[in-house]
Formats: sequence, structure tokens, C-alpha cells
Amino acid sequence: MDRKHGGSVLWFRHGLRLHDNPAHQNAVKNPEVPFYPIFIFDGESAGTKLIGYNRMRYLLESLDDINNQYKIFGGRLYMFSGKPDVIIRRLWEELGITDISLEQDCEPIWTNRDSLVKYLCRDIGVVYNEFVSHTLWDPAKVIKANGGIPPLTFQMFLHTVETIGLPARPVDDVDFKNVKFGIIPPYLCNELLMFEETPKPEDFGILYETQLDELPMIRWTGGETLALRLFSNRLQIEAQAFIRGSFLPTHSNLDLLGPPISLSPALRFGCLSIRKFYWGIRDLFNQVHGNSLEAIPQITGQLIWREYFYTMSVNNPNYGQMENNPICLDIGWYNPNSFILESWKQGKTGFPFIDAAMRQLKREGWLHHTVRNAVASFLTRGTLWYSWEHGLQHFLKYLLDADWSVCAGNWMWVSSSAFEALLDSSACACPVNLGRRLDPSGEYVRRYVQELRNMPEQFIYEPWKAPIEVQEKANCVIGRDYPNRLVNHKTASEMNRSKMENLRISLQNTLPHCCPSNEEEIRKFMWLPDEISDMVE
Ligand code: FAD
Ligand code: MG
Repeated sequence: MDRKHGGSVLWFRHGLRLHDNPAHQNAVKNPEVPFYPIFIFDGESAGTKLIGYNRMRYLLESLDDINNQYKIFGGRLYMFSGKPDVIIRRLWEELGITDISLEQDCEPIWTNRDSLVKYLCRDIGVVYNEFVSHTLWDPAKVIKANGGIPPLTFQMFLHTVETIGLPARPVDDVDFKNVKFGIIPPYLCNELLMFEETPKPEDFGILYETQLDELPMIRWTGGETLALRLFSNRLQIEAQAFIRGSFLPTHSNLDLLGPPISLSPALRFGCLSIRKFYWGIRDLFNQVHGNSLEAIPQITGQLIWREYFYTMSVNNPNYGQMENNPICLDIGWYNPNSFILESWKQGKTGFPFIDAAMRQLKREGWLHHTVRNAVASFLTRGTLWYSWEHGLQHFLKYLLDADWSVCAGNWMWVSSSAFEALLDSSACACPVNLGRRLDPSGEYVRRYVQELRNMPEQFIYEPWKAPIEVQEKANCVIGRDYPNRLVNHKTASEMNRSKMENLRISLQNTLPHCCPSNEEEIRKFMWLPDEISDMVE
């Protein structure tokens, strides 16, 4: 055994990649010391506390991808089950490990886990090395630069990070030829409940919930290898846009039905480095435009939203709830009726666009940003007037890219809970008009709401308006084959708007708090058209 050589542990949590991984670099810097890469299923890490099938599979595929890359060099990823502090103590007792390296998990939900390990390391004399690479900037530095509190608005955030300077560039890849993989003896592997093979979601009792039928399904696959491939495709798309003199190509060309091109699940698990993404786009811009144009912040602006929401949560353990959350307004949402809430979750609201989205979410784990806005607005200030917390819990379970602070931040944003300038905005999405604008023929609805697949285009977003003969011909009688609308959207949204207005009046003289920087930002965030058409009933 390698006890006399000590050992260096790399503890993966997020950051499931080998590239741009400073913790990894550190863990293998001494080629004489055995290297032990580990992942621990502790029922929480990597967002496994509340998790559906698709994201769990994505996580497991990401771990498998790392394991396979290690195998090429004669190593492996050790996947254990249990409590991190217990496992790390045992590795120290049995193998004599001397140091542990890890990527910072900045959200407050990880503080307990990491403090336990930090204290343990202090007690037993193991060096604890933490590296910031899941975010572009260290949130603690941003808060310090802003005078000890998180910047309240996105614009303030941009100013603050400008004073800190550009984010660090990615670090070099590890040269695996010089890495000495340590071997953990079988008795210890058994004791620490090591998985011989990468487990499946079913091994954790997580089952696929929707019917596996012949519906086309977009299948997202996890792992660094694929994420890097997707990223190089993304760079090509960005390059074409830069050459055309535009940017944010995925926004101008909204595709609800195409294959996965988004990198947010990869960023969420760290299969793709955020710094590689950021610098990849900036360098590309400079390559296309030379010195003639300076890289504008908008080209990487979306990545900064992620950064902003992380930073806002760091000192706020109640960020994911309304109660005792200093940045969240206490809005008097209705007590949900469980049938209505369940209908929203299962995609049975009677509004085809909303239902298609909610079914896509459960089925594939994915929703386009505008579609997320639509269903979130429908649940909260737009239509049902239910607290965003119900939506957050559902999204946290099913979204592939669900990230506690990013998801909660977006929910507070959309529901006007932390950003009261939106309170009187008429921008809450009308599920009928929005659907028509994004997908005039209704192909998206037909894909996910099979009952409506024969409904004529004219009625696809308002099937209740179809004459009964049309409904019968389409094999979809409303109330029998497809649900009646839960509510009249127009009436509900008008009532909600006046409630928001009253709230706004009552808040006029309060202290400054989180809010959008200006109207333009709201339009951009919501991807709103220039003209907002009237609500449909
Ligand atoms: P692009 O436009 O290509 O952006 C590139 C990257 O920037 C994204 O991959 C993502 O990491 C980041 N980004 C983009 N928009 C946002 C945003 N509004 N907030 C934070 N980061 C952003 N995104 C998540 O990553 N995790 C979540 O849990 C999440 N929950 C959301 C909940 C609601 C109610 C809403 C309205 C949005 C949520 N988003 C979340 C933000 C956004 O919808 C996704 O990041 C986006 O759809 C990813 O698509 P893309 O990669 O094509 O985005
Ligand atoms: Mg993306």
C-alpha cells in the first residue's frame, strides 16, 4: 500500500471536468504522491437532494465520462456513498492522505458540508485547498469590492466586477503521463460503499416518470467530452454572427424544436468551464474584428447573469424562499389549490403552450428561456397568483441545468419578488399570443401535447374556441380529451396587475433593494418583442 507516500485527494462536487481545473492541477502537482480522485454520493452534492431522472442521468454520465478518461491512463474515479467527512477521515487513517483539493461551491447550501470537512482537515493535519473556478469571479471578492454587500442591481454588479478586472483565463490541462494514480484497497472500497461501475439513476431509486412512448424526445447526454464538442459548435455559430456584425445568435434565432445546443447543463455541472466559455467568446470576437472593435460586454452578458445570481445568494441562506429572505418581497400569493397546482406541474392547465412546456420539462428536463418565463409568469404574477417557491421546487427537481441560486434568482425576477420595478409591467406573457409569436404553426404544442396534434392551426393555442365539429374531427373534445382552461387568463391577469400596482404604491418609500437596472434590461431579460400585443382571454 501507498501509505508511506501519503496521497492527494481531488474531491469532485461540481467542476466535473479535467480541463481548466485548478484543483485538479494542484492535486497532481507532485508526481511522486499517489492521486485519488473521488466523488461522494451524500444525497446532496451536485444538486442531488431534489432530483429527477434526467438530471441524475446527466450527472452520472458526467462522472462516467471522467472515469473513462482516467481509465486511458490506468486510473479511475472512485465513487463512494456516505458522509464526506467520514470518508475523508477514513482515507487519511488508512492511506495517509496529506492534502485534499476541491473547487469552491460558493452557494450557502454547501457551507455545512464544507465546514465539516475543513474542520476535520484542520484536526488531522490534512491540507485543504479550495479553488475558485465554478464562477468567473470569487463572489466574496465581488461583495468586498462592493463595500461588503452584494450589488443590488445587475448594472451595479457589472460596475463592481469592472473594478476587480477581467476574470482569470483557464489554466493549462493536466499532463496525465506524469500522474501516479493511487489504488484504494478493496476492503476500504467495500467499507466506503464504492460503486464498481458508474451507477444508474435506478440504483438510487430514481425512475423515469413519464410514459416512454413513441413521442420524439430530445435526449441530453452529460459529460465533458460532449460538452467540449457542443462548445466548439457553439463557437462556430458565434463566429458566423460576429462576421455578420451581430451577436447572441441563439437569441435572435429561437429554436424550440431543434437538438440541444444549450450549454447550461454543462455549465451547471462544470463539464464545461465557465472561463473557457467566457474567454472563448471574447477571443473569437477579437479574432473576427481585430483591433477595430473592442469586445462589448453584451457578447458574454448571459454568463454574467449566472454570476450575478450566485453572488446574490452567497450570504443569504434563505435565498430560495420568501420568508426571512431580505431581498424578496412578501407578496400575498394565494394559498394554492392542489388540483390547480398539480395541473400546472403536469401540463394540464388547458393552455396548450403552457402545457407543452410543462410536459417537455418533465420529459426532457429542458425548456427554452422564453418558455421558462412564460410558465413562471403563468404560475405567479401573470395568471395563477401562486408563490414562486412552488415553481422553484418543481424546476429544481426536473430542470437539467437546475442550480439553486440561479433558479431561485430567476424565479424571484420573473415573479417580481425581488425586482419591484416590474410590478406594474404589462409584460407578463400571454400564453396564447406568446405561443403564436414563437411558433405560429403550433408544432411545439403538437409535439408535446399529443391530444392536440390534429387541431387546426387556427385553434391550436385556443382550442376552446374551436366549434364542437372541429374538436370532434380533431379527436380532441375540450373537457373530455384535453382539459378546460383552469382560469380565464385575461380576467386573472388584469386582477393580478392591479394587485401589483397596489403593492407598488405601498412600497414607494422603502429602502433601495434588488431591482432591474432599467426598462431596457427588463425587455432584454424577458426577450420581449417591441410591441406587446393585447391579452387574449
Ligand atoms: P444562452 O443565452 O446561450 O446563455 C449562455 C449561458 O448563460 C447559459 O447557459 C447560462 O449558464 C447563462 N444564462 C443565460 N441566461 C441566464 C439567466 N437568465 N440567469 C442565469 N444564467 C443565465 N438557468 C440555469 O442555468 N439554471 C437554472 O436553474 C435556471 N432556472 C431558471 C428559471 C426560470 C424561471 C427562468 C426564467 C430562467 C432560468 N434559467 C436558469 C436561465 C435560462 O433560462 C437558462 O440559463 C437558459 O435557458 C440557458 O439556455 P442557453 O444556454 O441557450 O442560454
Ligand atoms: Mg448555452
